[in-house]
Amino acid sequence: MFTLPKLPYDYAALEPTLSADTLHTHHDKHHKAYVEKTNELATKAGLDGGPLEEVVRESAKASDKRLFHNAAQAWNHAFFWDCMTPKSAAPTGELKAAIDEAFGSLDAFKDAFVEEGFNHFGSGWVWLVTGSEGLKVISTHDADDTLVKDGLFPLLVCDLWEHAYYLDYKNDRKGFLKAWLDRVANYAFAGKQLAASEGQGDGFRYPSPSANDDSSDRRAAPGEAERPQA
Ligand code: FE
Repeated sequence: MFTLPKLPYDYAALEPTLSADTLHTHHDKHHKAYVEKTNELATKAGLDGGPLEEVVRESAKASDKRLFHNAAQAWNHAFFWDCMTPKSAAPTGELKAAIDEAFGSLDAFKDAFVEEGFNHFGSGWVWLVTGSEGLKVISTHDADDTLVKDGLFPLLVCDLWEHAYYLDYKNDRKGFLKAWLDRVANYAFAGKQLAASEGQGDGFRYPSPSANDDSSDRRAAPGEAERPQA
């Protein structure tokens, strides 16, 4: 059974950028529902014994769309919680160098991320990823995709579904994305992901290793599960 990972910070820790109300609704209602549905459907499909990354890949292969959508959303949200921090600080070291190389500057990266997210039609996710061509910004639609099954390694993601920002920003998705990047984006986490993509340390896997610190109800410790290929 997959558990709903606890947030790696207090519900009010990201205020005023994101309200406790938004995080309660987003985590306790939306994410919880994806995890519960994944458990129900994974059990029926005989995929409930392994890591969530395996459920995502196997359900995609089997074209089991309902299971895939729920498992992908469960994974994406867990990753998303780690992409935010109340102690946001500008990128440093290799991440800073990689951003400068790919985009020219941190501001140019932010512009690209905001534009991709703002122009994305409907619900989905906007990502900073690394692959064979270096860093780039992409978006994925609805619950139809997650990078777990692709050849890209995710560094950072922001949720573009209205439930992520509507209570705090109404329809101002661009305002949400700008505030998110400037005030709560977890570049330290993105830096760890970048290092993991180069074989240094473990990349994120569900449930979030960082939140294991204060929680005994996580089901996997770092190293127990297969590393996502994404
Ligand atoms: Fe969401």
